[in-house]
Amino acid sequence: MKSYKVLWELIDGLLDFIYPRNIECILCGTAVEKTEKYSLCTACKCQIHFVNKECKKCGKPLEEMYLPDTCHDCMLTNHFFTAGYACVAYDEEIKKLIYRLKYGGQRYLAYHMAEMMAAKIRQKKLEQIDWIIPVPLHINKKRQRGFNQSEIIGQYISRQMGWPLDRENLIRIKDTATQNKLSKEERKINMKNAFQILDPSKIKAKKILLIDDIYTTGSTLDSCSKELLRAGAKDIYVITFAAGKNL
Ligand SMILES: [Zn+2]
Ligand SMILES: [Zn+2]
Repeated sequence: MKSYKVLWELIDGLLDFIYPRNIECILCGTAVEKTEKYSLCTACKCQIHFVNKECKKCGKPLEEMYLPDTCHDCMLTNHFFTAGYACVAYDEEIKKLIYRLKYGGQRYLAYHMAEMMAAKIRQKKLEQIDWIIPVPLHINKKRQRGFNQSEIIGQYISRQMGWPLDRENLIRIKDTATQNKLSKEERKINMKNAFQILDPSKIKAKKILLIDDIYTTGSTLDSCSKELLRAGAKDIYVITFAAGKNL
């Protein structure tokens, strides 16, 4: 465990050297003070829609004027997870930011996303988690992209919260088509039996925190949660960096 921590500090130091943190705003690139939170300039911080009013089930942002405490989706669908949380509303700027991490290889962005997610976890007073589990990519996709962004975010959250990370037990066995062009129903079918738990004994009676970058319809996270429940998980929480309003 100790050597793992030392290794992380080394990698972290190296990353800090390659991508100096808190120098440029991660959204617009203007100079920021070292003390500026999340490496965001004041203007961008004001522009980002941080989730304050949210669906109590899935964590999706709700409009100010919307009265119920759950979103329309959650009124119609039962989720397999206990509760979900998200940091920011998914809009054009956030879309570009996630794209830069996933396809532009700007992995340092994951550090700041994880910072925001850890703040949300603390705000929601989520207690001791037994395993942080990032939503896995199929091996083919991971090879193609070179890394799994949720894993990197998960590693940073694990370090910030002091909770262990498991990135091997939950695997994706179906090389599913990209979800973003599919309807809600198609996504559900696409995700059916897409995941598998290799060692259920590690999951039994445990409190799990699933990590992903975006929450849209929740079909991916539901599919993972279903497998975890089948393996005997006690509670499953979900945290994503961004969540769509009406997706
Ligand atoms: Zn900015
Ligand atoms: Zn909801």
